[in-house]
Amino acid sequence: PGGGGGYGGQQAYSEERKSARRVADHYSARSNQTLEERENSPIIHLKKLNNWIKSVLVQLYARPGDCVLDLACGKGGDLIKWDKAKVGYYVGVDIAEGSIKDCMTRYNGDTDQQRRKKFSFPARLICADCYETHLDEYLSEDAPFDICSCQFAMHYSWSTEARARQALANISALLRPGGTFIGTMPDANVIIKRLRETEAMEFGNSVYCITFGEEYAEKKFPASRPFGIKYKFHLEDAVDCPEWVVPFHLFKLLAEEYDLELVLMKNFHEFVNEYLQKPEFADLMRRLGALGDGRQGQSTLSQDEWEVSYLYLAFVLRKRGPPPSQ
Ligand code: SAM
Repeated sequence: PGGGGGYGGQQAYSEERKSARRVADHYSARSNQTLEERENSPIIHLKKLNNWIKSVLVQLYARPGDCVLDLACGKGGDLIKWDKAKVGYYVGVDIAEGSIKDCMTRYNGDTDQQRRKKFSFPARLICADCYETHLDEYLSEDAPFDICSCQFAMHYSWSTEARARQALANISALLRPGGTFIGTMPDANVIIKRLRETEAMEFGNSVYCITFGEEYAEKKFPASRPFGIKYKFHLEDAVDCPEWVVPFHLFKLLAEEYDLELVLMKNFHEFVNEYLQKPEFADLMRRLGALGDGRQGQSTLSQDEWEVSYLYLAFVLRKRGPPPSQ
């Protein structure tokens, strides 16, 4: 499928580059936390819950020996999850130079958080804009991948149609037929609903705040202009940068153009309620300590953190075509 038109006007090229740079600089500047700093974070249980959700996705969809592409891999917080799934090879790509450096350090086992054996799989880390670069040109020797993951980052591609298309084109070109694409991103339905419920142009609680510009004062979002709907997202101790609304029905339609078919989409609340019923995942939740039961002074997710988790959804897509015969 070609890039370009279809849904109307595009932002100026330099504007979208500036926005991508702002996001990259924000994440690059975030330094690695010590274990103590992490445990004292006001959103520590939310971070643990997010890790549980990502672990469940990895455990459900990764197979031993898989070749993994982690788009917007950040500081490599998911390396351990992939190691537990016994994957065979890992490629991580992120736009933030600082994050890729931290990811490298974590992979090499040099941080004070890493009193563990080295990872059992070889890895390649690349600093690039996943939504602009034709990644298949860089990764032709590593492809095809069995599984692609894009955690808490797909929405950064939705600033323009061209970027959203490039993101999906990359994933489609690099996945093998039958390969899986797993991810997490903000749930546009919840965000728009919350915006419409408030009189102001912003909403939030003690740990997060979402602010829309006055250009959206009517709180109408015409279907003819589904890209570039920007808001400012602030999450205590985590995020402070521009993000873009991803209308999920359009994400699904656009993905289909790139031979990626929807397998699953669940808001985080539904995801937690469903997978917590499974003993192995309930056990993992206990071990991660995201939802303490309040006994023996064990702390648990606050109501405000639980509200933040409602702002997100998890999705799974599958690349069309039969898997190659063994
Ligand atoms: N996936 C990691 C995780 O779950 O821990 C990091 C998530 S963090 C919320 C979002 C990440 O997206 C950041 O590391 C940021 O640098 C990355 N990112 C944003 N825009 C990107 C782009 N255009 N290309 C590659 N990475 C991008």
